[in-house]
Amino acid sequence: MKCAIIGGGAAGFFSAVTLAQKNPDADISIYDSSKQFLRKVKISGGGRCNVTHSCFEPKELAQYYPRGEKELKGAFFTWQPRDTRDWFQSHGVPLKTEQDGRIFPVSNHSQSIIDCLHGQARKGGVKLYPGIGVKHLDFRNDQFVVEFSNGQSGIFDRVCMATGSMKSSTLRTSLEVLGHTIEPLAPSLFAFDITDERLKELAGISLENVSVGVKSKGKRQAGPILITHRGLSGPAILKLSAWEARQLNELDYQFEIELNWLGERTESDLQTLFARMRNQKGQQLVKTKLFEELPKRLWEKILSYVKIEGTLQWAQLPKKTEAHLIKELLSANFPVRGKTMNKEEFVTCGGVRLKEVNFKKMESRIIPHLYFCGECLDYDGITGGFNFQGAWTTGYVAGTAMAEKQV
Ligand SMILES: Cc1cc2nc3c(=O)[nH]c(=O)nc-3n(C[C@H](O)[C@H](O)[C@H](O)COP(=O)(O)OP(=O)(O)OC[C@H]3O[C@@H](n4cnc5c(N)ncnc54)[C@H](O)[C@@H]3O)c2cc1C
Repeated sequence: MKCAIIGGGAAGFFSAVTLAQKNPDADISIYDSSKQFLRKVKISGGGRCNVTHSCFEPKELAQYYPRGEKELKGAFFTWQPRDTRDWFQSHGVPLKTEQDGRIFPVSNHSQSIIDCLHGQARKGGVKLYPGIGVKHLDFRNDQFVVEFSNGQSGIFDRVCMATGSMKSSTLRTSLEVLGHTIEPLAPSLFAFDITDERLKELAGISLENVSVGVKSKGKRQAGPILITHRGLSGPAILKLSAWEARQLNELDYQFEIELNWLGERTESDLQTLFARMRNQKGQQLVKTKLFEELPKRLWEKILSYVKIEGTLQWAQLPKKTEAHLIKELLSANFPVRGKTMNKEEFVTCGGVRLKEVNFKKMESRIIPHLYFCGECLDYDGITGGFNFQGAWTTGYVAGTAMAEKQV
């Protein structure tokens, strides 16, 4: 049985290694247009590779995927982060779980993951073709005709598409001709480009729990935020960029966000607190830091923005200024004028339509023996190891299904 895996990233390698382990007779080849396999694994997680996340409940895990939740949930019952963790550990890569649930190799080097996957591929007799891309894919008489970038072609019984993002993919037309649909593609997991006097000179400041949403649209997100030289980043922003990826793309990244610097505090919480401050004996200055969770420089910046002088006491605070202060703390609007690159992790939302793929086997519902895994599919996760988990899971399911099918 001749099997071609198109793309030697996390998903392609994991499908090949699974297939080799489950069916030692299979003739498996991985083709990659790049000369270097597992390129993204290498740079992932700042070079440490955030392999997966310590979330072991398939139903809960699936909720970390803005697209693909329903389809992935089933697949997670077959292969989930616990399986990923056990697999790498039993294949010689000790892993550790960080406080926030992210799982990394103990070595802190993505190379450990790469060496492991290469080792298993070698052991399973998987043939590697670096620098050989696939230009065209056809299905004739129950077999695949694959045309390579070097002008040669090959006939295969099984093909697994593991090409990563479909953005500018050479195989888009082939897949469409075969009957598949590519859902609109858009970047996900990016930071927001904001130029605003309220953020000036605050780069480097981070807050633990900020709530943020696209103004009057969509779901709000909460979590840590980082003020950068170009605007805002951090987990809460990345989550928002993921959940609203399509909508923000349609808005051409020109939109307003509404931000609550104090996470879950409400207007009535602040009114009560400010009333107490007004009535306190031995009047305190407003500028004295009031909130544990708000860095001093940011508090001072907000006060200066709402024109509260350094010498003003709480009892002297005009009601109108208090209302302005509450607004700037709990629902400050910032204009976003573009997206900026998140160096830690980014992915593409969109890809092969999920309805056209049977997630029990990762097999096309249109073309028999054509399999899909990884980012070429229209699923994507938020940051934290979920995207690799998607690749391991879909790669495992595809590899297992390819192994089971005999010609
Ligand atoms: C900077 C960065 C850091 C990241 N860090 C993390 C992290 O720490 N944790 C996490 O969970 N996720 C992370 N991600 C996301 C993660 O890398 C992807 O979700 C994952 O790599 C997807 O795996 P894949 O195998 O589907 O695709 P890819 O890794 O993109 O692999 C696809 C492969 O297919 C090849 N290919 C494409 N077209 C063809 C063709 N026509 N013929 C032959 N070969 C082809 C490509 O050259 C590539 O090698 C990060 C992403 C980036 C960009």
